[in-house]
Amino acid sequence: MNHLSYTRGPQDKPLLAMTVGAAFDATVELFAAREALVVRHQQLRYTWAELAEVVNGIARAFLALGLRPGDRLGIWAPNCAQWCITQFASAKVGAVLVNINPAYRVNELEYALKQSGCRWLVCADAFKTSDYHGMLADLLPELGQGRPGELSSDRLPELRGVISLSDTAPTGFLRWSQLEPLGRGIAAAELTERQALLQFDEPINIQYTSGTTGFPKGATLSHYNILNNGLMVGDSLGLTENDRLVIPVPLYHCFGMVMGNLGCLTHGSTMIYPAPSFEPEATLAAVAEEKATALYGVPTMFIAELDHPTRRDFDLSSLRTGIMAGATCPIEVMRRVIDEMHMAEVQIAYGMTETSPVSLQTGPEDDLETRVTTVGRTQPHLESKIIDGDGRIVPRGTIGELCTRGYSVMLGYWNNPQATSEAISPARWMLTGDLAEMDEAGNVRIVGRSKDMIIRGGENIYPREIEEFLYTHHAVADAQVIGIPDEKYGEELVAWVKFHPGHSVAEDELRTFCKNAIAHFKVPRHFRFCDEFPMTVTGKIQKFRMREISMEEVRSKRG
Ligand code: AMP
Repeated sequence: MNHLSYTRGPQDKPLLAMTVGAAFDATVELFAAREALVVRHQQLRYTWAELAEVVNGIARAFLALGLRPGDRLGIWAPNCAQWCITQFASAKVGAVLVNINPAYRVNELEYALKQSGCRWLVCADAFKTSDYHGMLADLLPELGQGRPGELSSDRLPELRGVISLSDTAPTGFLRWSQLEPLGRGIAAAELTERQALLQFDEPINIQYTSGTTGFPKGATLSHYNILNNGLMVGDSLGLTENDRLVIPVPLYHCFGMVMGNLGCLTHGSTMIYPAPSFEPEATLAAVAEEKATALYGVPTMFIAELDHPTRRDFDLSSLRTGIMAGATCPIEVMRRVIDEMHMAEVQIAYGMTETSPVSLQTGPEDDLETRVTTVGRTQPHLESKIIDGDGRIVPRGTIGELCTRGYSVMLGYWNNPQATSEAISPARWMLTGDLAEMDEAGNVRIVGRSKDMIIRGGENIYPREIEEFLYTHHAVADAQVIGIPDEKYGEELVAWVKFHPGHSVAEDELRTFCKNAIAHFKVPRHFRFCDEFPMTVTGKIQKFRMREISMEEVRSKRG
C-alpha cells in the first residue's frame, strides 16, 4: 500500500478527442428538439436545433469578417444569449475566445486586448456602472471614423473592429444584428471545411486569471482541455438530457462557460441563465419556474440565496444536484443547501482556471461528512500529488502544495513563457499554490493558499479552521480570517464576520465563544463586523485587500 499523497483518477471512460464545434454538432443531432438554452432576463429560449441555426449563422459571419484559425476574439459582456452563441460560433471557426471580465475598466480592458492581441471584440453597450461604449470611445477615438473592420489604432494595432450587442450602437461599431445577414454571404460548406481543419489540441480560449494575486495572466486552454472537463464534471453530477442547470455564475469564468455551458453541451442538458450577473432572487425564481434539477454557485451565492427574505416563496423541490466551488465551502452552508434547498446530491468541486478548471470533485456516493469536509477525489484521467517545499511527495495526512497533472493542464500562459515555466513543472505538473492534505481514501482537504498560512508566535495557523469554527455560532453567516503583522507575535489574527440578517453579537461574546472552544493562539485578536467582504466578481475573497484595510484600522486605533 502506497501511503504517499498521490492518486490517479479512474480511466474507464475515454476522453473526447474532438473539437468543441464537433461536439456541438453531435449534441444538436442527438437532441435537436430538446431545450438547449433559456435566458430569462432576455426572454429567449432555444432548442438545440434553433441554437445551431443561430450559432452557424454567426460562425459564417465570423468567416466573413476574416477571422482565421488562431485569431483572438474578445468578449466583454455580462451573461446573455450572445455570450453563449459567441462561444460556440468562435469555436467552430477556430478563433480563440478571450474572456474579458465585465467589471474591467478601460486600463484592464486595454491590457487584456493588447496582451492577447485581439483582432475583434464583441461587447455589450452598458451594464451597471460600466459604460462599455464610452470606455471604448476613450480607448479608441478612431473607432467612429473608419468602417467597421478597418480600424487602425496605435494603442491596439491588432484590433480590426468591435461588434456591439446593441442595436443602437454608434457608427464605427458593427452591430450584432448585422452579423447574420453578413454570414448569409458565406456558403455553409465553407464553415464545414473550416471546422474540418481544426485540431482538438489547438488553443480555443484565453481566460485571465482572477485578481486574488498579482497581474492577470492569460491561461490558454485547448478544445481538449475544456471539452473534456465539461464532460467529466457533468458525468460526476450524472447529467443527462433530462437535466436543467441554472447557471448564475459568470460566463467569462470557467465555472460558467466550461462547467456550465460545456457541462450541458456534452450531456444534452439545458443551460438556464437567470440574470446578467448574480441576483439571488432571480436565481431562486429560475429554479422554481424552470423546474431546474441542478444549480451552481460559489459559497457566497448559496449564502445569499439561503438568507434571502423571499426564499420560502419559491418551490425548489425540483432540485437534485449542483456544485459549490470556487472557494472554501463552509460546512454549515453545505448542510443548509442539502436540507433547505433540496440539493441532496450537491457536490463540491475544486479547481483553477489553469486546469480547465476542475481537478477534484466529491462523488454522488460520498457521505455527508466527506462532502462537507473535503473537495473529493481526483477526477478521471487526472493525477494529484501533494509536495513539500523541496518538491517531494509528502505522506498521507501531511499538509503540502497540491499539484495536478493530465489532460486538463493548460497549454500555458499566453505569451508569457516565464510565468508558464514557474507554474508548470518540466514533468507537466501544475503547481496550484493551494495547501492541502490527502487522507487514506484519497480525499483531499484544502487548508488554504500557501500565502494564506498565518504564523503567530511560531504556531502555524490555517485560517480555514478558525473560519469553520466561527460558522458554528448561530449568528454568524460568513467569516474570513487573515493575518496582519504584529511586533510581538510576528502575525496576529483578524476575523471579519458577517451576521445573519437581524442578528449581531458583541465582540466580547464572540471572543468568549472562541476561548471556550479553541486553542488560545487561534482566538482572533481583532474582530471586524461587516456586510460584505472585498471580493472578485467570481466570489473569491480578496484577502490581500482585507489585510490592507485591517492593518490601516489597527494602525489608526493605536494612533
Ligand atoms: P480560479 O482560477 O479563479 O478558478 O481560482 C482558483 C482558486 O480558487 C484555487 O487555486 C483555490 O485557491 C480556489 N478554489 C477553487 N475551488 C475551491 C474549493 N472547492 N475549495 C477551496 N478553494 C477553492
